[in-house]
Amino acid sequence: MRAVLLGHEPWSLRTVRDWPEPVLGPGQVLVRISGVGICGSDLALADGRRRVPGYPWVPGHEAFGEVVATADGADRGLAGRRVVIEPNYPCLHCPACQAGQTSLCPDRAVVGFTVPGLLADYAAVPEAYAWPLPDNWTEGDAVCAEPLTVALAAIRRRGDLAPGSRCLVIGAGSQGMLMCLALVARGINPHVLEPAEGRRDLAVSLGAIAAAAGDDGFGTVFETSGSPAALAEALTRAAPGATIMLIGLSGQPALTDTELIVRRQLSLRGSIIYDHPGDFAATLRIAGVPAGAVLRASYPLEEAAAAFRAAGTLAGKTWIRLGH
Ligand SMILES: [Zn+2]
Ligand SMILES: [Zn+2]
Repeated sequence: MRAVLLGHEPWSLRTVRDWPEPVLGPGQVLVRISGVGICGSDLALADGRRRVPGYPWVPGHEAFGEVVATADGADRGLAGRRVVIEPNYPCLHCPACQAGQTSLCPDRAVVGFTVPGLLADYAAVPEAYAWPLPDNWTEGDAVCAEPLTVALAAIRRRGDLAPGSRCLVIGAGSQGMLMCLALVARGINPHVLEPAEGRRDLAVSLGAIAAAAGDDGFGTVFETSGSPAALAEALTRAAPGATIMLIGLSGQPALTDTELIVRRQLSLRGSIIYDHPGDFAATLRIAGVPAGAVLRASYPLEEAAAAFRAAGTLAGKTWIRLGH
C-alpha cells in the first residue's frame, strides 16, 4: 500500500507504494484512510524535536476513513461505515484510566508517535477507537474531529463557561482556530491574539475578535501557541480570579514574573488531549460546529512532504487527501 515515511533526518519525508498492509488483530477494524490533518505535533516530529521508537516511521494521527474489514469479535455494525479515528489508546486498567482520566494514562499508545501513524492507505484500529461519523459531517469536519475534541475537552475541563463569557485565545494556528470555533459554538465570541495577519484574519472570519493592545480582563485564557512568551501575555491580560488553560506544548522555559498570579489569584491548568470514551462521543453528538472551516490547503498523498512544509507557514489547517 501507499504510505508516508519519515526517515532519521529532519524533513526526510517520502511517499512509498510498497509498504506492508496492516494485519488485523483481535477486536480491530481495518480503515481505508480518506484524509489526514497535519498539526504542530506532526511538525515537531518532522523537524526532529520529537523522536519516535524507530525509523522509517509512518506519521499522522488526525484521520478519517471507511471501515473495509472487521476482525472476529469486532463490531460488525462498523463495516462500511465512515469513521473518525481516536488516536490515543489508553490501557484502561491503571488508576488514571479507572478514574476516567485516560489522558493521564502512563501506558497510553499514541498513534503516530509511540505506535505507527495513519498516513497510509490502510490502518488497523481497535474498534472502540473508530467512531462512526454522523451523515451531515463533511469530509473537512471529519479531518478536524480530533483537534476539535482537544479544544472541546479543554472547555469542558474549564468547567463553567457560560455563553457570553469573556475569553481570550492566544495563537491562531489550527488548534487555536478550532478553539475559537468551539467557543463560538458555545455562544462565546473569544478575543484572539495572533501576530500573523493571515491567521488572525481567518480566526476573525470564524467569529473571533482581534485583541487590541489594551484588551484585558479575560476570565479565561486558552493558550494554544506554545510560545515561551505566551504565558506572560496571558497573565497580563487575565482578570482577577481568572483561569489560564495551557494547551500549547512549548518544551522551553516560560520566563515570567509570578507576582501577577499571586496578586490576581489566577489558576493555571494544563489540558492534554481528551478522555476515552466520553470526549469523542461528546464531539460527535455536537451539531453545528463547522470544524472544516479551518481547513485551507490540501495535498495528495504523493505530495506529503510539501504538505508538511506548507503546514508550518500557511494560515488555516493543511491536510492530505488519500484519493480513494
Ligand atoms: Zn494533532
Ligand atoms: Zn491507563
